[in-house]
Amino acid sequence: MKRIGILKEEGQQKIAVLLPENIKQLKEITDVSVVVENGLGDAIGISDSEYKSAGAIIALNSKELIQVTDIILSFSRVCDSEHFSEHKTFIGFFDVLNDFSSVLPLKKKNTDMYSLGLLPRTTMAQSMDVLSSIASLVGYKAVLLASSLSSSTVPMISGAGGTLRPAKVIILGAGVAGLQAIATAKRLGAIVKAFDVRHASKSDVTSLGAEFIEVEGAIDSASAGGYAVEQSKDYLNEVNKVLDAEMRTADIIITTAKIPGKRAPLLIQEETILNMKSGSIIVDLASETGGNSALTEKGITITTKNGVRIVGTTDLLADTAKSASFVIGNNFTSFLKHYLKNHVNEEDEILRSTKVLTNGIVTSERLVEEIENY
Ligand code: NAD
Repeated sequence: MKRIGILKEEGQQKIAVLLPENIKQLKEITDVSVVVENGLGDAIGISDSEYKSAGAIIALNSKELIQVTDIILSFSRVCDSEHFSEHKTFIGFFDVLNDFSSVLPLKKKNTDMYSLGLLPRTTMAQSMDVLSSIASLVGYKAVLLASSLSSSTVPMISGAGGTLRPAKVIILGAGVAGLQAIATAKRLGAIVKAFDVRHASKSDVTSLGAEFIEVEGAIDSASAGGYAVEQSKDYLNEVNKVLDAEMRTADIIITTAKIPGKRAPLLIQEETILNMKSGSIIVDLASETGGNSALTEKGITITTKNGVRIVGTTDLLADTAKSASFVIGNNFTSFLKHYLKNHVNEEDEILRSTKVLTNGIVTSERLVEEIENY
């Protein structure tokens, strides 16, 4: 029987990586015991006794939990413990392409490690796709945050004092986060325009009732698993010109453009920002990887001298922790079920793609070079 341990997140991170209902589902289909760290669900109002009723055992702390379990789950808590060994497997959601800090302690302890941040974008892996779950919630929350920071209303409002025109909202990057941002801004009654280098996203944008900003000449890579690739200088200059004109009249801009493993593309130049309207808001969801705007500062909100507020927060997920725990719990449960059934099959695509370490040795093709040279 496998023993699965669920670590409590640390600091501001309020997510519980499995909910009591996920534990029930796991126990129904397979012979596992589940140990959860004391206080796992505190931040989202779920008590230890609810976990106990679902069949979990409560561990006093992470040390005890790691000692008595075989498979340890964490959302983003980097963990080092003398009790990690070659017989343990650590499963988390880490941006291992940009940050090795989660990998190094486990590498030294000869542990196996998987990161759901490396999942392939395939139909089989869809139910495990933590990245999409997060992007969707954060895209939604970014629009609400921008609307509440703006001193103007978003929908058209007609009343005794006249008519307030609807806000102009621009979304840069029309992937999962961008599409949710478009849908949310449309529901609020904004006029929405969006841009993406992947021309395939045009139909998604227009089907949500937004206008697609056209710029010809992008490199569209079919081999990048649905992701964008880096673009030529000439093309990016053309993008700048077209977007500059649009952004000067925007009330809200939400940026979501990312390229896996690379710095986020710079889509809002300083000159554009300094020509935007006072009171307009930019929420930069790419701030973690360098930002899409030239003046974004990771983790904080700044106001430019011409009155544009630029939000570089990386905390939006924590603001939806209850909803996030629900969807992420389902993603991890789906991955665990797959792992328990297939972990002996070395050819399994999902497990091969997500495996970072085998007995402490880096086996992820995407990481091998970078980490071994670290
Ligand atoms: P992402 O978070 O890596 O990037 C966000 C968006 O930024 C992408 O749409 C990307 O094209 C765009 N972008 C990159 N560089 C840009 C630039 N210079 N200018 C403007 N936009 C730029 O991507 P994502 O949201 O996770 O998803 C990317 C694609 O993968 C989408 O087509 C999505 O539908 C697809 N997807 C498939 C699955 C699946 O099949 N299981 C799951 C999730 C996402």
